[in-house]
Amino acid sequence: MPEPPPERLIGAYGDPAGPGPLVVAICGIHGNEPAGGVAARRVLAWLEAARPAFGGRFVALNGHLAALRLMQRGIDGDLNRRWSSARVAALREGTLRRRDAEDHEQAQLLGVLDAALAGARGPVLGLDLHSFSAPGPPFVVTRAAGPELAFAAELGVPVLVSLERFIGGTILELFSDEGLPILGFEAGRHDDPATVDAHAALIRLALAELGAVARESLPDEAADRALLTAVGRGLPRVVEVTHRHPLEPRDGFRMRPGFHNLVFVSRGEALADDRHGVVRAPRDGWLLMPLYQGAGEDGFFLAVERPLHG
Ligand SMILES: [Zn+2]
Repeated sequence: MPEPPPERLIGAYGDPAGPGPLVVAICGIHGNEPAGGVAARRVLAWLEAARPAFGGRFVALNGHLAALRLMQRGIDGDLNRRWSSARVAALREGTLRRRDAEDHEQAQLLGVLDAALAGARGPVLGLDLHSFSAPGPPFVVTRAAGPELAFAAELGVPVLVSLERFIGGTILELFSDEGLPILGFEAGRHDDPATVDAHAALIRLALAELGAVARESLPDEAADRALLTAVGRGLPRVVEVTHRHPLEPRDGFRMRPGFHNLVFVSRGEALADDRHGVVRAPRDGWLLMPLYQGAGEDGFFLAVERPLHG
């Protein structure tokens, strides 16, 4: 049976008026990244079928409906660069002039998110579920050094911190501005079935971490943990983004082949070429988000390993 067209609410589980934690999954804020929504539906189907003892609420939302329907990243822009406190305040007050598809999506998504968060009766955790096009291991992105960093670091996949110093307006910013923890998860390649598995594992472990469901009630906690630890093996647990290579229009930036997320590069190593010549790594570090396709403002980022406590 073909999948029905995506709706804003993928599904919800748990008593909306009852006590307990709230886990909110935001799926497909980039429309070419459907794996998070597939994983959320899988977890909801398990909850409906297994009916484990459950306290709290799980809400799964689609991020960019119009783009998800077209299976493309965005329509007129990037829905994940618009969540500055000023824009969000203007949207809530109804004073933001909506100019493009992403403005309309953002207004709708914000309304549904605000309603879900207003109903929270306990601790909250946001999950912002992504995938990527290049090869490379999954990784978590988080802003804060709070309990979500400890939870994320326990998962065994590398955790990126301080990306917000270079990329503003992601949906992580909305939660941070509200004082709420959130994890971004880049779970694997867009079309890899393992990406759905990784997202589903994260959602289940998050539900258990917040106490919505007992660990013993999970289908297989050990398998979920093993899946994530396996992909993070040999990689640092926490890396801090320290360098961004910005692009200028018409600088002819071309990444050299063979790089992907979380490859270690050495200072002086040739990474790319542009009209000024060879672009070399300014320092040793873990390479992130090398730009191979499409337009962008960022050629690549570099990160250094950081102690978990420090
Ligand atoms: Zn994305």
